[in-house]
Amino acid sequence: MKRLYSIIILFAVLAGLMACGNRSQTGQTDVNSGATNKKEEGVMKQNGQSKENTNILVAYFSCTGTTKPLAEYAAEYLNADLYEIEADIPYTSEDLDYNKSDSRANKEQDDSSARPAISGKVEDMDKYNIVMLAYPIWWGQTPRIISTFLESYDFSGKTIIPICTSHSSGIGSSDKNLHSLVDSSVKWKDGKRFAAGTWENEIIGWLDEMGIQPFVEENGGKEAAECVFDFEKKTVTLNSGYEMPLNGLGTYSLEDDVCVSSVSEALKRGVRLIDTAYMYHNEEEVGRAVRDSGVPREEIFVITKLYPNQFSEPEKAIDEALKKLDIEYIDMMLLHHPGTDDVKAYKAIEKAVEDGKIRSIGLSNWYVEELEEFLPQVTITPALVQNEIHPYYQENDVIPYIQKLGIVVQGWYPLGGRGHTAELLGDETISAIAKAHGKSSAQVILRWNLQKGVVVIPGSSNPDHIQENTELYDFELSDEEMEKINALDRNEKHDWY
Ligand code: NAP
Repeated sequence: MKRLYSIIILFAVLAGLMACGNRSQTGQTDVNSGATNKKEEGVMKQNGQSKENTNILVAYFSCTGTTKPLAEYAAEYLNADLYEIEADIPYTSEDLDYNKSDSRANKEQDDSSARPAISGKVEDMDKYNIVMLAYPIWWGQTPRIISTFLESYDFSGKTIIPICTSHSSGIGSSDKNLHSLVDSSVKWKDGKRFAAGTWENEIIGWLDEMGIQPFVEENGGKEAAECVFDFEKKTVTLNSGYEMPLNGLGTYSLEDDVCVSSVSEALKRGVRLIDTAYMYHNEEEVGRAVRDSGVPREEIFVITKLYPNQFSEPEKAIDEALKKLDIEYIDMMLLHHPGTDDVKAYKAIEKAVEDGKIRSIGLSNWYVEELEEFLPQVTITPALVQNEIHPYYQENDVIPYIQKLGIVVQGWYPLGGRGHTAELLGDETISAIAKAHGKSSAQVILRWNLQKGVVVIPGSSNPDHIQENTELYDFELSDEEMEKINALDRNEKHDWY
């Protein structure tokens, strides 16, 4: 049976080769001949060079040329770097003869510890957030050279997307079997199998479905993925492609008319980021202030959140938020806390993004372990994580982990939260730094956050404070001052979640 299967596979590969050979972008048909598949020591190949502005790598193994066009389509569409995984000893047609039980390919596939050596290497794997891994299916499994590739680099925190070619066999468990070869922080997307000779638009359609978007060079591609703050424009470009202001107004505990007037004052003073939530019971007031502000809708960025008690019926909750806010669309929706059905709720938000009701998705109160467990279960990478962050609770281990994933970090309780602000604002170290700059303690804390790459949303109903909290861009803390504030960390949480 195994033999019969091998014959079918061989036939399929050859048939596939003939099909895709006609449409190969290079016109190269390297049927069963590693020797004709020109070896370039594994150098980055994308029109002959590595691109500066990309965080996506498409790595492919294609000793017969079947997989190569798919990899090229994906790389071209995503503006990604392309890397060919080439065996140190190229595969010959004899090596790939599945009818011979002692052929090289058969022996390797039978031996789970086989690791064919690779010639050359990816120059700077660290710069990539997403690695698409393209390979043909051999015996219903991934060729062992892909195991060599996965074990040769540190993929922690990256997303890996398998993509494979075969004529008749499916992807099977070939993608899932790769998971154990890399660090558990890797976020795997479900792989997809394409028939040999697949057209470009099929690949693009699949990438679009997954929400894998090319980074646009004008937006700084790589910069967007690294969450770089633009202090001139006072914005950051999210991984969803939208720009978000670096400072905003938090509306927790602002109710009724106080909420309307606080948001109105903030918008009058140039604040363009407003944070609300179902649980704050003020989405209607936030929406009214936004609509009545006279500020064009597209200039304002409104974040709201679904509470865990809404996760079981997320579609209803999303529509409720849209109705209450009544501002055409929601710029970003967060899950307020982890909870039962959080993946279901997130997927409903993903659908709302597809439908144009919501633009970006985020999480709140998700830390490293929670993210490690959650991210592999969803399709769209969150654009933002909002967590408690202030000088007495700094999350210094969590922030870089999140940022490395290309996710922007936003801090709640930046001033310590109500009931704690007096101690923080009166802190000797912070007050001395504030005095040296002719600024308030609140401004120093907010600026410290910004310099750490953390977006701030201080809450206030006092117009003077709201104004003060916008004046954060005309001074800079020195490395020494940053260090002094960093040293204040007490791991002291001011709320339970
Ligand atoms: P906060 O911003 O740390 O502190 C707000 C307190 O600081 C208020 O009492 C405010 O009083 C005072 N304040 C603001 N600006 C000031 C200034 N320049 N000088 C002196 N005092 C100033 O706490 P928060 O509002 O509770 O948190 C910020 C936002 O984070 C919330 O509004 C909410 O949007 C969000 N949040 C999210 C979560 C979550 O789980 N995702 C949890 C909590 C909060 P005045 O009104 O007198 O200015």
